[in-house]
Amino acid sequence: MGAVDLHFHSNVSDGLLSPAEVVRRGAKNGAALLALTDHDDLAGLQQAREEAERHPLRFVDGVEVSSSWNETTIHIVGLAVDPCDAALTAGLAGLREGRITRARRMAAELDAVGIPGAFEGAQRHADNATIIGRAHFARYIVERGDAPDVRGVFDRFLVRGKPGYVEHHWCDPEEAIAWIHGAGGRAVLAHPGRYRIGRDELRALLREFKDCGGDAIEVVSGAHSPDHVREFASAAREYGFMASRGSDFHGPGESHVDVGRTAELPEGLTPVWRDLI
Ligand code: AMP
Ligand code: MN
Ligand code: MN
Ligand code: MN
Repeated sequence: MGAVDLHFHSNVSDGLLSPAEVVRRGAKNGAALLALTDHDDLAGLQQAREEAERHPLRFVDGVEVSSSWNETTIHIVGLAVDPCDAALTAGLAGLREGRITRARRMAAELDAVGIPGAFEGAQRHADNATIIGRAHFARYIVERGDAPDVRGVFDRFLVRGKPGYVEHHWCDPEEAIAWIHGAGGRAVLAHPGRYRIGRDELRALLREFKDCGGDAIEVVSGAHSPDHVREFASAAREYGFMASRGSDFHGPGESHVDVGRTAELPEGLTPVWRDLI
């Protein structure tokens, strides 16, 4: 089987390519199985699926749900969800509304440190989108010349303790998992290596995610180092999670790993896609 990529974005959320373009790129890169997982939105899935049908690959409907665990924002990927499910679509609509309020507050904070017009600026970078988020703000800050690139923005702005960061309650992990399960999907903890929490807290997160019915964790992620891959392969075995594999591709020049170019899972893990295809 060719490569599997179950986590990437289109311009329906904060990716740079349209759903069709990103699927086409994944196909060109040799992917055999793809899932589009835009932040808090299902609007790209139909276009992505139509494109996928033109290529020799399988497509799974996905979403990356923003959630709050204690003070930490965590992301939960839903795979093989029914995009018409009423509770899931309503839950995501609520998260998108929260993004608008948060964005206004982020813009006010940035204004106070000499970056005016950030709400409108970010919105301009999101004009194909129904979602406004930190990546759009980051692109505006780069455009202004206040940082060399998007990664550089996140060293100085938009993260906890830096200007433009706003505390926000998304939804409880239990709610996100219930929406995903209610829509027939599997709940996957996204990029566990990326959360800025200590070892003990990370173990508590994995334990609680398991206890809440979480099905899988991302072992291979564009956000993971080789050490992370070993660590989360072993965590998947220990906690009894299935394992997932995704690039978290956002666009050319913005991501470490291209769509469809993820590494294989380590041995001895149950792939989350095993009986989905
Ligand atoms: P939001 O969901 O609006 O809080 O934005 C989260 C998004 O910001 C992530 O999905 C990435 O696209 C982007 N992001 C967050 N941290 C970084 C980082 N350190 N480098 C690059 N992009 C980041
Ligand atoms: Mn993103
Ligand atoms: Mn994420
Ligand atoms: Mn992502």
